[in-house]
Amino acid sequence: MDNFEVIIVGSGIAGLTTAYFLQKDFPNLTYKIIEARSDLGGTWDQMKFPGVRSDTDMYTYGFSFNPWDGPIIGQGKDIKKYLNDTAVKFNIRKNILFDTKVTSFAWNNNQWITKTNQKDFISKYIICCTGSRDYKYPNFPQFKGQDKYKGEIVHTQDWGNTECKDKNVAIIGSGCTAVTMTPAVVKEAKKVTLIQRSPAWIVNVNGKETSTRLHKTFETLIDYFHSRLFKASYKKKVISRYPYYNETNVPSYDYWDQRPACSLDHDYFIALKTNKVSVEHQEVSSWEENGIKLKNGKVIECDLTIMATGLNAQLLGGIDIFVDDNKISINNTSWYRGMMFSGIPNFFAHTGYINFSWTARCEIVSQRISRTLAYMKKKNLTTCTPKYVGKKSKPAIEANYVLRAIDKFPNRSYKFHNANYLLEYVIFKYTRINDGVVDFK
Ligand SMILES: Cc1cc2nc3c(=O)[nH]c(=O)nc-3n(C[C@H](O)[C@H](O)[C@H](O)COP(=O)(O)OP(=O)(O)OC[C@H]3O[C@@H](n4cnc5c(N)ncnc54)[C@H](O)[C@@H]3O)c2cc1C
Repeated sequence: MDNFEVIIVGSGIAGLTTAYFLQKDFPNLTYKIIEARSDLGGTWDQMKFPGVRSDTDMYTYGFSFNPWDGPIIGQGKDIKKYLNDTAVKFNIRKNILFDTKVTSFAWNNNQWITKTNQKDFISKYIICCTGSRDYKYPNFPQFKGQDKYKGEIVHTQDWGNTECKDKNVAIIGSGCTAVTMTPAVVKEAKKVTLIQRSPAWIVNVNGKETSTRLHKTFETLIDYFHSRLFKASYKKKVISRYPYYNETNVPSYDYWDQRPACSLDHDYFIALKTNKVSVEHQEVSSWEENGIKLKNGKVIECDLTIMATGLNAQLLGGIDIFVDDNKISINNTSWYRGMMFSGIPNFFAHTGYINFSWTARCEIVSQRISRTLAYMKKKNLTTCTPKYVGKKSKPAIEANYVLRAIDKFPNRSYKFHNANYLLEYVIFKYTRINDGVVDFK
């Protein structure tokens, strides 16, 4: 079995950030990144649907240690290239083992054994960078009569080589993905029908805007807290800013209950005005041979149906975890600072923000992991294990994909301020590592 001090699982933004800080803080440390896919980038390697791009500004979504120098909103393929360039620039790519899927972690005798579909590894620590969603099974609503439908059905997570050219396309969904892909699909398709059960908040980003990381950090967070403190007036302000909103498409949920979708240089609003596009605010009833039947009885004829219906949330890549031969149920754990789990020694995991850049949290968590390892090295300690303490867990957002998977998340959380980057920045950097909640041995 190959032996490394740290095993990192996943080579998306979280995996690359983790590797960067480990290398910087511990030049002699040995680590390996294990990646199930054939290339790095995670989300940005997988998502290939037309128009795929960031919703967050790239000033904060790019790495602080390798600033992004492109436009404010990054296109999917450019983000993928940027991640690869970063991995090459910092000699991280050579430490990634591709096409290797981790199946289980087992802690015994003060070490981890990571089992994969290729070979097994021994390590002192695990850092799980497996993202937040199920890579295999996205959210795919089932409607009656799917066998009848003669057209093609594709989910945005599994785009493959799907073509929209000259097709009658139906897009089911109203979130960020539907909003970013619509303008790109409209350019190719003969006709596009958007089927939206419930409208989403959509705001515009000026593609020419230039800014700085610091400015964008404060601007985004002030906007977020303003919208949470003065919910009604903030909603009114957004509605008055965009002629798009009318009595049929004002969302029923509060602004920032979910990440708002972003239109770039009004591209979504412009696409809606073309005579190729129509919008149905209706639920789907069933499939028909030639299309989709809505609950009001109307049939939308389409030869391609795009499911922009989102993801299924999943923590820790669905990997089985055993501690001293006992299988861990994550639902019975407490989430320590959103980066460790009670009862699981020497095990860290990343998750990001919904109201701010994912990368920003990966960086502060990675720095906290480095501080923890440095503390343990200095004191000659072998294990760090959080205790089962904290409050009953509350989801950071009431998005359906989180609520659907709530029983797979920890039932308690301790000092996890999952909507407050500035607070976490200060806490992670300046509070004591041995805070009485993590058991160091
Ligand atoms: C279309 C889209 C747009 C987005 N836009 C934004 C945005 O603008 N701003 C923002 O903050 N966030 C955005 N997000 C959220 C996005 O997921 C995160 O920003 C970020 O890319 C997640 O990085 P990650 O490294 O944590 O996880 P991922 O990118 O999901 O990478 C996880 C990696 O782990 C690997 N893995 C998983 N399980 C295993 C296993 N068992 N064995 C081996 N490898 C495994 C996967 O193959 C994958 O490569 C967007 C998401 C999508 C889908």
